[in-house]
Amino acid sequence: SHTAELIAVGTELLLGNIANTDAQMLSQGLSALGINVYYHTVVGDNPGRLRAAVDLAKSRADLIITTGGLGPTCDDLTKNVLAECFGRKLVYNAEAEARCRSFFQKIGREMTANNAQQFYVPEGAVVFQNDWGTAPGCAFEEGGVHVLMLPGPPRECTAMFRHRAVPYLRALSEGAIVSRTLKLFGIGESGMEELLREKMNAMENPTLAPYAKEGECELRITAKAPTEAEARALIAPVEEELRALFGHKIYGADISSLEEAVFALLRERGLTLGSAESCTGGLIAKRMTDLPGSSAVFRGGVVSYTNAVKEGVLGVPHALLEEYGAVSEPVARAMAEGARRVLGCDIAVSTTGVAGPDSDDRGNPVGLVYVAIATPEGTRVRELHAGSGRERVRTAAAHNAFDLVRR
Ligand code: ATP
Ligand code: MG
Repeated sequence: SHTAELIAVGTELLLGNIANTDAQMLSQGLSALGINVYYHTVVGDNPGRLRAAVDLAKSRADLIITTGGLGPTCDDLTKNVLAECFGRKLVYNAEAEARCRSFFQKIGREMTANNAQQFYVPEGAVVFQNDWGTAPGCAFEEGGVHVLMLPGPPRECTAMFRHRAVPYLRALSEGAIVSRTLKLFGIGESGMEELLREKMNAMENPTLAPYAKEGECELRITAKAPTEAEARALIAPVEEELRALFGHKIYGADISSLEEAVFALLRERGLTLGSAESCTGGLIAKRMTDLPGSSAVFRGGVVSYTNAVKEGVLGVPHALLEEYGAVSEPVARAMAEGARRVLGCDIAVSTTGVAGPDSDDRGNPVGLVYVAIATPEGTRVRELHAGSGRERVRTAAAHNAFDLVRR
């Protein structure tokens, strides 16, 4: 299997003007292909230092992917330097010119003379035509090292990777690499590793890789086989085993978020959802409505950030707020039930908690959150101790609200 090095070219990266998001995107994409990325290098728009970086990469990787520096300006020197490092000439490519001309025609702008730079590619390279911008990318192989060049703008880089580089890389490796990502909620990374350590070490094909992010965990199963069907057949029993081990903690496979799981479930059952949010300030509604088509299941939400709104809009009894305070189990319950009534939805979730930085006037600690769900069958409340940091507390509250819905 390949070992890859990513070289991002651009002085703006070194100045800290922008983050190297292309590298993040590429690393994720490559690891899904089963390709190990060993180094990320960032170098400015300087031919000498780029040359040195490429020479080093050549000595320790058999796949080099560059981003940036393919455009029409004089600081765009990637192709020149890479061609030079691998002893190739730059040659004219008619299709690149035709594409570039038609791109400019489409956007109704005049092509300038310096665009001609983009019509040249290293001799013998496969040209990656760019349907998302003007600068084509390319790929070639020299002495067992594969070199791929992609444009810098993230939108172009992502599209060119997905539609040009991935097919190219798949064709390089004999056989198919398939991966499936199980998503877990309600278990920490260390808890997951504890249960899996021995298993992971013993496995070769498929391999098992755990990841954790923002209170969620992922387990990626990657298999390699002569055909895709055979690779999938290797994955299936492992997935079954993991599902038996983690049960309901697994909320989905190959989906990106809890709300996506919630969306699918509600749609399947023909149910609608609404929210009453205090400490999350609309985050639940935001995350639901980030999903295209969510109006089919999400009816709306109330951001009841003050007691007056909890009482006036959601009908939370004044006495409850007086007696228990806004951050309490009875109020969370009444908020969810009120939202269900007011919004006319089948299921409503609510959040009320202390996002911080200070504890509330009743002395409730930062991170204390009550998340409730009201359904036709009744109401349930979950108490969280989500740690500190507003962002973290809110994320945990929203995650848990979605988790309650899918259970
Ligand atoms: P262009 O045709 O737009 O000139 P290019 O391939 O020459 O494309 P650069 O000139 O290096 O790319 O970068 C264009 C823009 O893309 C940069 O200003 C920056 O905003 C963004 N960019 C470049 N490299 C990266 C990177 N590694 N991560 C995120 N954004 C990047
Ligand atoms: Mg440029």
